[in-house]
Amino acid sequence: MKIDALVDPSQKLTNEEIKRYARHILLPEVGSQGQQRIKNAKVLVIGAGGLGSPVLLYLAGAGVGEIGICEFDVVEESNLQRQIIHSNSKIGQSKAQSAKEKVLDLNPLIKVNLHEEKLTSKNALNIIKNYDLVIDGTDNFATRYLINDACVLLNKPFIWGSIYRFDGQLSVFWKKHGPCYRCLHPTPPPSNMVPSCATGGVLGSMCATIGSLQVTQALAIITGMAEVLIGEVLSYAAVQSSFNKIKISKDQNCVICGNNPSLTELIDYEEFCNNQSVVLDPGISVSELAKMLVAKKDEAKDFLLVDVREESENKLVNIAGSVLINKDDILSGEKLNLLPLDKPVVLYCRSGSRSNEVLAYLRHNGYLQTQHLAGGILAWIKEMEPTKPTY
Ligand SMILES: [Zn+2]
Repeated sequence: MKIDALVDPSQKLTNEEIKRYARHILLPEVGSQGQQRIKNAKVLVIGAGGLGSPVLLYLAGAGVGEIGICEFDVVEESNLQRQIIHSNSKIGQSKAQSAKEKVLDLNPLIKVNLHEEKLTSKNALNIIKNYDLVIDGTDNFATRYLINDACVLLNKPFIWGSIYRFDGQLSVFWKKHGPCYRCLHPTPPPSNMVPSCATGGVLGSMCATIGSLQVTQALAIITGMAEVLIGEVLSYAAVQSSFNKIKISKDQNCVICGNNPSLTELIDYEEFCNNQSVVLDPGISVSELAKMLVAKKDEAKDFLLVDVREESENKLVNIAGSVLINKDDILSGEKLNLLPLDKPVVLYCRSGSRSNEVLAYLRHNGYLQTQHLAGGILAWIKEMEPTKPTY
């Protein structure tokens, strides 16, 4: 979506700034006016970790006049594989301080504000209200829903990014123009199914891919120089070297940005995320799946049918044309790369409960075109192939 520039270009550039930002100013889409807008902009980055590292460096290089860093952690050796704003000499020291030092060393003409505290329901609105937009560089769901809700209440753009293993995704949520994070994911994944880079791993360079896209989105919002990912999720799958864009829409019943919001203030997000159990998805019916299987010959309607049961169950009976990828291998992230991001996936199990769990996990990992078969293979056998064995 193309939007008008968010930030006004009131502050003129000094000669020193014109020299420094010449490669931007040469771009007609940016020009002096765009660079003045960037100089006037105030951007808050939550987290100076994997995504925060490239985000902060590129924002600073671009000349964003005021950058806020919200971070309370310290630098650890295992961070340095991807959190390249920090250095070996900073191990054990404050990430916020370390990031500020590097940012000002890159560009001393800008201002950096440190918020060395955990973002909470108590401080979020006060911190965020002073900025034009927020970039999410965190890796936990409680903070992500908190940022979303605070940005909706303040009507600020929220540039979300997330990475896990070899996959990454981003979008821009902005109440004024389109959906919010809750429209996409009304509930967090069940607490026992949360994908985490600490346990599942992450390819360090994924941070640069997604982080730099977040910065480009920020500059697009500030200057109006390019399309903004509102109402769209852009995914990158490193294993397939492919980008994929999916449209998402505003949920008129969304609890925070819908027509009659039931949430009008911030809540306890730890509690909200810790008390989630799997929400039952109605799934697709046997006849819908049968129709999809017939239409599958047309390449445009191709999809992957995945049996998430155990191998022994698959050997006993299965739906023709399906592949077996066991539930635990998906939930551990181990076999995530066997699933395509660019085409639909339909999951099935025996009766629909395991596939429902995997569905919740996959959707939160960017597999937005995933569905599952209601009633599982038992429903399929009953309606379609009654001579096959049941168990
Ligand atoms: Zn919403």
